[in-house]
Amino acid sequence: MYRGRCEEPKGRDAGLSVPALLLSKVGVACMELDGAGEVAQWDGSAEALFGYDEVQIRRHGLDRLVPSKGDVESLTAFFKACLRGDDGLQGVPTSCVTHGGRVLFCHWYAAPVRAASGEAGLAVVVKNVTEQVLMANDLHRVRSQLQGICEKAPIGIFRADVYRRIVMANPELSWMLGYESSAHIIDSMEAVTSFFMDPEQGDAFLFQLYEGEQLSRFRCRFRRRDGSSIWVLCYGQMIRNVAGRPDGFYGFCIDISRTVRVENELMRVNHELRLVSILDGLTRISNRRHFDECMALEWTRHIREKESLALIICDIDHFKWFNDAYGHQAGDTALIRIAQAISACVHRSGDLVARYGGEEFVVILPFTDLSGARHVGEVIRQAVEALAIPHKGLEVPGCVTLSLGVAAIRPGPGVNSETLIRMADHALYAAKATGRNCCIAFEDIIEDPLN
Ligand code: GH3
Ligand code: MG
Ligand code: MG
Repeated sequence: MYRGRCEEPKGRDAGLSVPALLLSKVGVACMELDGAGEVAQWDGSAEALFGYDEVQIRRHGLDRLVPSKGDVESLTAFFKACLRGDDGLQGVPTSCVTHGGRVLFCHWYAAPVRAASGEAGLAVVVKNVTEQVLMANDLHRVRSQLQGICEKAPIGIFRADVYRRIVMANPELSWMLGYESSAHIIDSMEAVTSFFMDPEQGDAFLFQLYEGEQLSRFRCRFRRRDGSSIWVLCYGQMIRNVAGRPDGFYGFCIDISRTVRVENELMRVNHELRLVSILDGLTRISNRRHFDECMALEWTRHIREKESLALIICDIDHFKWFNDAYGHQAGDTALIRIAQAISACVHRSGDLVARYGGEEFVVILPFTDLSGARHVGEVIRQAVEALAIPHKGLEVPGCVTLSLGVAAIRPGPGVNSETLIRMADHALYAAKATGRNCCIAFEDIIEDPLN
């Protein structure tokens, strides 16, 4: 072996042989022990590691380097076994203390040798593994902290491998999904997708996760063991191996079933409130407020589109007498039936039938000209007549009828929605004046009542 000195020895390395220098660089010390376990030869690498020179250590037992009695005992047993020639005894771990008082973690290796004098001894190599031990301790501490967090976390946590199989699930997740234990989930579930109530959601979850590395706020339903479901907010995080390739992922799930229930209830109540605010309490068709809203919207839409907007106002004939003859309750029933009959006569999606007030109804017919509106008006008149609701309160007893006023206009400068309502109203008056049970258009009025 090369036994020369370093060419440019510096600092602590000064005076070390090249092999000793190299060994000290990798944290290895060499020495020879005699048959009694005392230091017989002390290499420069040992001096570099432990800080003792040969004079200080020679003929000392190892208790100078190894402070723990237990460690000394296991080392002594190890050396004895080596001297006996037992195989397989290597890497005995001990803690050591340097001359400067630094604590090291070392692994001891030994092989029997015979000195020139013929005395049996041991060639010993000590490897300083302090850094590895400290790193392993840190790793262990971090791992057990993480495990503690996972076990106590109030959210469901799982880990899946690269084949999407669940390899870890925390207690909260097993509780959320109705399983006895985390192990039970791992055994029962084939893949992460089994969590999802809707398989398409499972695919979407994985797709988004693999596309985006990180996935936040994925809202979905998880299947519980008993077949029921819970709503969860799921977060995902890809894991990559040292080569940078996907190596599975973590999932974090929060049970939001209660929030979703409250949201649904809120939506239902909101929907109901909206209905209450736009529907007439008696007839359940749109009320005056909804009519006003729709009229304003349609008016601006028709200005934009430069199209004709039509309106029909319907008024039940001699309804006061009907109430007088049959009572208010029968009057209400008749109003409901007539509202339904009018609604059944309009079919286009933008059409709107509303109760304008009392025994009056209005019909908005978007993108409809006068002839179309006149036609719809006549259809409505006939439909109400066809109900054949008896009216014994009339001078000549007959059935309940409607009078209708129809108007259509192309919104533009100088007119507003009020103009259209006034035109239809005048037409209605004309219908009443004509003898009722008829449909009159504003344009049919010979004398323009607006002037
Ligand atoms: P006309 O042919 O001129 O329209 O005669 P009319 O009796 O229908 O008109 P009038 O305006 O004199 O009376 C309207 C009546 O409608 C008064 C009221 O008894 C009745 N009415 C209004 N709202 C309701 C309601 O909600 N329920 C019931 N039962 N009747 C109502
Ligand atoms: Mg009236
Ligand atoms: Mg009336």
